[in-house]
Amino acid sequence: MRQFRQRGIILATIMVLLLTSCSKKGVEPQSQSFLMLGTVCRISIYDKPSDTAFKAAFGRIREIEERMSLHKESSEISRVNREAGKSAVAVSPDTFLVVEKALEIARLSGGAFDPTVAPLVEAWGIGGDNPRRPGREELETLLSLVGYERVTLDKTAQTIYLADEGMALDLGAIAKGYAADEAARVLKEHGVGSAIINLGGNVLTVGRKVDGSLWKIGIQDPEAERGGYALIVELEDTSLVTSGPYERFFTLEGETYHHILDTATGYPVVNDLISASIITESSFLADALSTTLYALGREEGLSLIESLEGVEAIVFTGQHRIITSSGAPAFTITDEHYHR
Ligand code: ADP
Ligand code: MG
Repeated sequence: MRQFRQRGIILATIMVLLLTSCSKKGVEPQSQSFLMLGTVCRISIYDKPSDTAFKAAFGRIREIEERMSLHKESSEISRVNREAGKSAVAVSPDTFLVVEKALEIARLSGGAFDPTVAPLVEAWGIGGDNPRRPGREELETLLSLVGYERVTLDKTAQTIYLADEGMALDLGAIAKGYAADEAARVLKEHGVGSAIINLGGNVLTVGRKVDGSLWKIGIQDPEAERGGYALIVELEDTSLVTSGPYERFFTLEGETYHHILDTATGYPVVNDLISASIITESSFLADALSTTLYALGREEGLSLIESLEGVEAIVFTGQHRIITSSGAPAFTITDEHYHR
């Protein structure tokens, strides 16, 4: 993801159609990948692949991107941001729902997760072509524009209003999760009962494998190349989403700056975690909470997760320890550098 953004390559939509080995039922599983939501989005269907199912699911992801992207001038989020301090903007039910949920998580996390973090995100530009380290004064000014309490939602009119000019929303920490849930819903409407949706590491499993066994999903080794796993979890109908500083960062004068920002200081979050994963049914919640867990850090983050039913966490510390919430599913460590 980082490479694409940093090199500024504008890639036309690419499609890869992969045929993998025959399943027991004799159906060929199929995968397709497209560049959407600033990352590689891949859907693999195991039981009932069809062009119409792929088309509908990717169409839905594209629609969500068109509505929520911070980088598209025509998106609803860009319109809301342009009208900050001026007027309320009517949006689609999609955008309204995602912002509404984002504000709930913001309240739940005491603002550690905050969708109004956009002015800070833009100033740092981490993951973009020109990342930079803003000065302290600049950060102070920008921090005054961050505050989820100053977002007004009107449910009847389906409008969003940001109280002050310069305020802006960034749904980068949750839109992929929402898109994954929606893609799964669309696949099911097309009769698909066995699939994996992977939106740049944001994984949602649909059903089970066609032979009835559980999916084996790897959690990225934060210290290895992309695709190197540190542990494997077995799941069905569940989402697994990981957030961490290794995903997007830049280095300046020997210091590394990553993309999850501390809404109190304006700087990247500093803690002893190197990755934070959430396992829960909804990918939307998993996405929002993995960023939140990382932003809150080990103690506060894990105690928030413990308080939520049906939500589990697996975190990696800088000392290579793996710590989980009390109901986390069983897993196998595949990299000996890590231990419980
Ligand atoms: P990714 O999308 O890279 O997998 P995340 O889901 O953790 O990772 O989202 C990180 C993105 O969320 C950042 O790139 C930025 O756009 C946004 N963000 C950064 N800090 C915060 C924060 N404290 N609260 C909410 N969103 C944030
Ligand atoms: Mg997230």
